[in-house]
Amino acid sequence: MNADSSRLSFAVKTNANPMPEAERQAAFGNLGFGTLFSDHMAVIRWHADKGWHGAEIVARGPFALDPASSVLHYAQEIFEGMKAYRTEDGRTVLFRPEENARRFNESARRMAMPELPEADFLAAVEELVRIDAKWIPQGEGSLYLRPFMFASETFLGVRPSREYIFCVIASPVGPYFKGGAKAVKIWVSQNYTRAALGGTGVAKCGGNYAASLVAQAEASAQGCDQVVFLDAAEHRWVEELGGMNIFFVMEDGSLLTPPLGGTILPGVTRKSLIALARDQGLTVREERYSFDQWKADVASGRLREAFACGTAAVVAGIGTVKFADGEFAIGDGATGPVTTRMREALVGIQRGQRPDPQGWVR
Ligand code: PMP
Repeated sequence: MNADSSRLSFAVKTNANPMPEAERQAAFGNLGFGTLFSDHMAVIRWHADKGWHGAEIVARGPFALDPASSVLHYAQEIFEGMKAYRTEDGRTVLFRPEENARRFNESARRMAMPELPEADFLAAVEELVRIDAKWIPQGEGSLYLRPFMFASETFLGVRPSREYIFCVIASPVGPYFKGGAKAVKIWVSQNYTRAALGGTGVAKCGGNYAASLVAQAEASAQGCDQVVFLDAAEHRWVEELGGMNIFFVMEDGSLLTPPLGGTILPGVTRKSLIALARDQGLTVREERYSFDQWKADVASGRLREAFACGTAAVVAGIGTVKFADGEFAIGDGATGPVTTRMREALVGIQRGQRPDPQGWVR
């Protein structure tokens, strides 16, 4: 199977009942995250005897699933998250979508699911963005794209499904955190972990997020925006947040982020920020960093800033860190200058406001 050549062509059935223009404009006035959806979806099916087939763009709507569909029992499901932006000069762009296509297939391999040729993944995303282009908000918002795949065989045995549905849906979004670009407060989970070596932490599978919800609920109960996980073996090393990677800014201006190593999701934003920072002449180290060291470095002033990063939130300064025995502020508790610079550099490229020497925007 050639992963690079697109083999599928999409049958397009336009939604006969799209959301009325006035209703959409009203909804655009109050965008949250993941509550409003565009008119269409892309669907591709896979069967063990037929491979990928039946590619189509159709009106967004429910799937009819048998109660014995294996995803409902054994959670064989993976997904991606990416965004389409409208540039100031009116172009519609995607940011490094081939990175999402590649990571999707890495997740598929880990979950014993069939790989979708990257060109077909990209074609599904692009066809949907094209037909629902009017759903991309102007200004600060963007169209969040959610490609996903799940096991749809009607079968209760525990083995990889022989049927899958791949789908892409689109959701216009505003800022991820309600406070906008304000620094966030995070909760360090010392009871729950997210991923062990050899487990599924490196894959973007639904089960990882199901397992993180109780820790996220604990964070919310503590008045925090997000949870940060420590490693599963020693409960000592900082790994990542429930849905974002993490960076630390040291007093010498260098950046530090935990190494990937199999338990951390390899974020596209993380990878892009490492490249951008190095381009700007900053030193970036991918090194383990313990929670104890973090506390000590804040106390001594060696740590100046920390930020979380991911497609949804882009770059969010971490202002306060709370844990079972106390809490501390980073710097003055507001988003720091290096964090702001990194955010502006990345957003500028994503929105076509800054040169894109690496060709990340498509
Ligand atoms: N870690 C986790 C657990 C995530 O869910 C995400 C979001 N995909 C990230 C990190 C950030 O990845 P990306 O920059 O590709 O959005």
